Amino acid sequence: MNKDVVLAAGILGTAALMYGFFSMIPQRQGETVRIAVDGDTYGVYSLQEDKEVLIQSERGRNKVIIREGQVSMEFADCPDQYCVKHHAIHARGETIVCLPHRVVVEISSDGETDTEIDGIAQ
Ligand SMILES: [Zn+2]
Repeated sequence: MNKDVVLAAGILGTAALMYGFFSMIPQRQGETVRIAVDGDTYGVYSLQEDKEVLIQSERGRNKVIIREGQVSMEFADCPDQYCVKHHAIHARGETIVCLPHRVVVEISSDGETDTEIDGIAQ
């Protein structure tokens, strides 16, 4: 009887340890790209999914491309073109900013891809 309890406790302890170990591994799956215009979230998209996002605001147009986990500004009609010249980003915390259009493209890993925001993008 006693031996069974010890064995059960051992299994539970091992399971708890394993769980703790696996939950500490950072999950790349949740990585997303957030696009904000003038400080407001325009859309949040998964890096896993290839996508083209056209951003149309009163300041102008930007076209963001998500391809093979990389995000780049393919086109913008802003005067300085800094955002278009920016290299593609993929790591958490990296950003592409289009200052004239107040567009910020940022890689983040918090939260899931919100398809609802995607659907109502202005
Ligand atoms: Zn720009």
